[in-house]
Amino acid sequence: MGSTALDSIKTPNAENPRLLGGSASHAAIAASFFAPVKLVGVVGDDFPKRYVQLYRRHKIDLRGLQIARGKTFHWAGEYEINMNNRRTLTTDLGVFETFSPRLPQSHQDVPYLLLANIAPALQHHVLDQMRRPKFVIADTMDLWLNIALADLLKLLRRVDAFVLNESEARLLTKEDNLVVALKKLHRLGPRYVVIKKGEHGALVSCPTGLFLAPAFPLRKVVDPTGAGDSFVGGLLGYLASQGGSVDAHLRRAVIYGSAVASFCCEGFGLTRITRVRRQDIEQRVRLMEGLVHF
Ligand code: AMP
Repeated sequence: MGSTALDSIKTPNAENPRLLGGSASHAAIAASFFAPVKLVGVVGDDFPKRYVQLYRRHKIDLRGLQIARGKTFHWAGEYEINMNNRRTLTTDLGVFETFSPRLPQSHQDVPYLLLANIAPALQHHVLDQMRRPKFVIADTMDLWLNIALADLLKLLRRVDAFVLNESEARLLTKEDNLVVALKKLHRLGPRYVVIKKGEHGALVSCPTGLFLAPAFPLRKVVDPTGAGDSFVGGLLGYLASQGGSVDAHLRRAVIYGSAVASFCCEGFGLTRITRVRRQDIEQRVRLMEGLVHF
């Protein structure tokens, strides 16, 4: 579950209004390469039918996607020339403002749950309705650290894994050194912590130790919007496809997440990732193996 949005994205080279976006959309498409996905979110009556069809083409179960009267969540952002720095221009919550997710029966027994980036109160609300999920990952963003910290801290005590980016880790722990920040993050609750470092990969801390995952080196980044969501969606989708022990599969899952995220960056919104086949992902994973083997 997470945001299901329309994104207007501006880069130094182009501008694309009202693309399909949202943390849950990116994560759901990424996970769909590996395992069946049930999406929970809300869209307004302005949500284009072609986007519903796009979810369907990826065999995403839409029984948890509400269509409400009003406007779909709209986010607008602009990238600087380096494509790393991003400025949010608009966050218009629309129908998310009054959204109170009600999970269908069929969704309450799902073993792998992603609470993708959205207000922590909504993440709690979904978690409250789940029976006994096997593995729960929460993602967030700086906005919620600033305006809903108490809710977020409460959530961290209820989840297995927490995914956040480098600057959010520093903001939350008030610690520059990421190794120390990881320790502080574990103390907040989650046994698994993943710090995303954009083009520099990810730092994973889990019961079996530390793992450093590279990002796939891309020649050209078209639009990194949703890369973090694709990463965590791919990661959890892969874990779900393997079953069994999380610890046994986590490292490979992180690499699969990185591979999927790299495809996300190669096109605006979801345009590139929705044209990728599973074998393209496998090929990129093999290339990544070669890059880090010594
Ligand atoms: P990322 O690039 O991984 O940070 O994710 C970008 C996605 O997050 C976009 O598709 C946005 O629609 C979505 N997004 C932006 N702001 C928020 C917010 N406040 N809550 C939930 N989702 C958001």
